[in-house]
Amino acid sequence: MREQMEFKTESKRLLDLMIHSIYTNKEIFLRELISNASDAIDKYHLTSLTDDSLEKTNEYEIHLEVDKKHRKVKISDNGIGMTYDELINNLGTIAKSGTLEFLQKFKEKELKDTDLIGQFGVGFYSSFMVAKKVQVVTKSPYSEVAYKWISEGEESFTIEETTKESRGTEITLTLRKNEEGEDYDQFLEAYKIRSLVKKYSDYVKYPITMEEEKSVPVLDEEGNEVEGKYDTVTENTTINSQTPIWNKAKSDVTDEDLNEFYKSTYYDYDNPLFTLWNNIEGALTYKSLVFIPEKAPYNLYSEKYEKGLQLYAKDVFVMDKCKELVPDYLRFIKGVVVSQDLSLNISREILQKNHQLTKIAQNLEKKILSELEKTLKNDREKYAKFFKEFGVNLKYGVYDNFGEKKELLQDLLLFQTANKDDVITLKEYVEAMPKGQDAIYYGSASSKSAIKVSPQMDLIKSKGFDVLVFTDEIDEFMIQILHEYDKKPFKSINQGDLNILDEEEKKTIEDLENENKTLLEALQEILKDEVSDVKLSTRLTDSPVCLVSGEGLSFEMEKVMNQMPGDKKMKADKILEINPKHELFKAIENVYLDSKEDLADFATVLYNQALLIEGLPVKDPVAFSNKMVALMIRAAKKQNGETA
Ligand code: ADP
Repeated sequence: MREQMEFKTESKRLLDLMIHSIYTNKEIFLRELISNASDAIDKYHLTSLTDDSLEKTNEYEIHLEVDKKHRKVKISDNGIGMTYDELINNLGTIAKSGTLEFLQKFKEKELKDTDLIGQFGVGFYSSFMVAKKVQVVTKSPYSEVAYKWISEGEESFTIEETTKESRGTEITLTLRKNEEGEDYDQFLEAYKIRSLVKKYSDYVKYPITMEEEKSVPVLDEEGNEVEGKYDTVTENTTINSQTPIWNKAKSDVTDEDLNEFYKSTYYDYDNPLFTLWNNIEGALTYKSLVFIPEKAPYNLYSEKYEKGLQLYAKDVFVMDKCKELVPDYLRFIKGVVVSQDLSLNISREILQKNHQLTKIAQNLEKKILSELEKTLKNDREKYAKFFKEFGVNLKYGVYDNFGEKKELLQDLLLFQTANKDDVITLKEYVEAMPKGQDAIYYGSASSKSAIKVSPQMDLIKSKGFDVLVFTDEIDEFMIQILHEYDKKPFKSINQGDLNILDEEEKKTIEDLENENKTLLEALQEILKDEVSDVKLSTRLTDSPVCLVSGEGLSFEMEKVMNQMPGDKKMKADKILEINPKHELFKAIENVYLDSKEDLADFATVLYNQALLIEGLPVKDPVAFSNKMVALMIRAAKKQNGETA
């Protein structure tokens, strides 16, 4: 007898949503049905362990069939099946809180479109996205008879007794006809089904099989192949690989296996630099297989690059780039996270808010950092290689979110320095500081050699202090956030007051400054549009002049900020420092006394020289050159006059 029953109200709404779904990723229906089949086999297997009335077996299978002619796709399993009551309760009502929440959100218009359906994994009903009719034939080992359930996705479904020999469930979808923009025919192609299984269900632990046509050579009476003659036979083949590498025992997996897995999954030619395989059990249970490539992907710093790890819930693929699992500064990592706990919830809640996922992400971050720390300690060469490729990301990590992660990351940084051949950590820098040095010095330049010859190094060099060499744009910004390390402040060699001189030396300079007050003021007046101050330098010993910036914005920061879009240009304070011990200073003093007009030319040349040394552009190169030429001619004339 066939009974007709109404769906529960919530189910009707969900069905309606599925049928009129504009969700583009309709293919997930197969994943949902296969994962139900796998759950049903799990359930049978577990029950059979404790219930003696059930046959004990290991022969499980999820079988797929396509019937192009009748537009049918069939998914069968030999799992637990459903009794009459189960059939009504499970397929006629939505029992799951997650789905109810989804509908609630939908009603409240919190979800703008149906694009989130995939994340909620609405299960069985998703078949109605592609099918106009769904038939379920099922037999539970606890029921004498089998039942047939049919629905066309409307208000009601029918249910009747039927015959089915073996336990399990067969779900037959009759696919809709193609519509504008919707291609349902594709799901009638064996290769498409196969590729969907590979994509979403490759690691389902039971074999997923499909009859496939194969071409085999025809044999003659003696059993030899007849050239050029083939027969087509159908064969039941398994299409999923079942055991993912992370589910194998670590002892069964070689480094080579892991490298091969990495290369084929993430399309890299090189082996990974780091491979981290964690099986975490306890309050938080997950597996992760994370790789750090040897080379940064070419698009790592482009906006199009998507960070993230593949996410599996209970060996069922959920998504390719779960970005919630990866902090920005580790955006270069690749890999997989598999959570058993997530299985029932992950696809049913919005990911960002998932508590479990957040915890996994935190745990994973800690593991990766501790591996990096370990490598820094035990394999410096490997770490340096890593840092060269990805270090700049860690620097961004320090800078990001107002230094939220600086404590975690500061000891993982490596720097070039003026005095050492190898890169060093901040800790090593501080440990090597000579007595009397109480700041960590740094200088920005295009290269280490540029720093080494820069005039600002004069005094520092003579004191035997080392200097961190900054060549990345982020460096100075990061240092603003770090502020100090081991209670030692960071100090730029080309900014503000260096504060290295002792009292006596300071006094000498102060006296000199007083003596030359009018000269300095005159220079300042000439250069008033260019610099905010002209001073006698406390940092120069050999070089005649240098340009430094005030305490705020540095030249490097000015350069970086002005590359950013926006009209408002930032300006660093420029201070021209003159070396009072240099012969040139004496010369200027004389010029000042002799001829006040010549002073203007001297000042301009001096300033432009300082710009050149600093690697900053000269505003008017032609005028600069003309002044130089004029000075040279004057000097030559003087010399001739004297010697003549
Ligand atoms: P979920 O699988 O997340 O619980 P579904 O809507 O996909 O949600 O399925 C509802 C219920 O129907 C399942 O919980 C299960 O009890 C039952 N069910 C679905 N498919 C099968 C199957 N192939 N074999 C046995 N029971 C099934």
